[in-house]
Amino acid sequence: MADEMTAAGVGGVEGGVEVVVEECPRFRRVCVFCGSSSGKRSIYRDAAVELGKELVARKMDLVYGGGSLGLMGEVSEAVHSAGGHVIGVIPTTLMGKEITGETVGEVVAVSGMHQRKAEMARNADAFIALPGGYGTLDELLEVIAWAQLGIHTKPVGLLNVEGYYDFLLAFIDKAVDDGFIRPAQRHIFVSAPHAGDLVRKLEEYVPVEDDQATPKLRWESMEQVGSSPCGSPADNRSIDHLPSSTSSGQY
Ligand code: AMP
Repeated sequence: MADEMTAAGVGGVEGGVEVVVEECPRFRRVCVFCGSSSGKRSIYRDAAVELGKELVARKMDLVYGGGSLGLMGEVSEAVHSAGGHVIGVIPTTLMGKEITGETVGEVVAVSGMHQRKAEMARNADAFIALPGGYGTLDELLEVIAWAQLGIHTKPVGLLNVEGYYDFLLAFIDKAVDDGFIRPAQRHIFVSAPHAGDLVRKLEEYVPVEDDQATPKLRWESMEQVGSSPCGSPADNRSIDHLPSSTSSGQY
């Protein structure tokens, strides 16, 4: 009986019996937003691969927009080839190989771009933006805006590879200075230049308290999903179960 285990993970000795307690990671599924291009400098590809490896090392699944283009391909391939689980959420209209390339891992088909964002958000416990263009900014700012409204409290992180997002961060500071973003909301997301630091910050993230925030539109009360407890990755109910205010009907 001495080698009886209660779960896989870190160990200790209790009453002469080795007890192995599972380390409960703060989250299990991370949604990565990133460029469908690779950028002109190899550091962006390197950062995508580094992030993929970091997720696998921490036993975190990847949720992303599907396909093999640009940094999306780099991060998904890095996770998949290292044995991690990849979930690509892809609109049927983009599914042709000639449009998005091959998706590695699990493919979740959705009917449009808005459904894709909702489905990616629902399937993830945290969000990370790598460098990217308009699509990445759209996805990133939407999850930040949803956090501001209290729709979710999932951590959001910016992977600021060699200062790629410095101008965005400066713009956000300007918006705070000029009264368009409340100071309490300035740190509603975190940023770091390297994947390891960023994931650590996400794990330590405490949702901002803002008494003046707009009334909370909790996902739970909208039949959407909140942060998932340990051992229960983000809810992956079908998008069809969403009320019309959050599903395709709204868009
Ligand atoms: P962008 O930053 O403009 O390259 O857009 C990338 C983001 O938008 C990704 O996170 C995807 O979810 C989505 N996206 C934009 N274009 C495509 C595409 N051709 N195939 C798949 N996803 C795309």
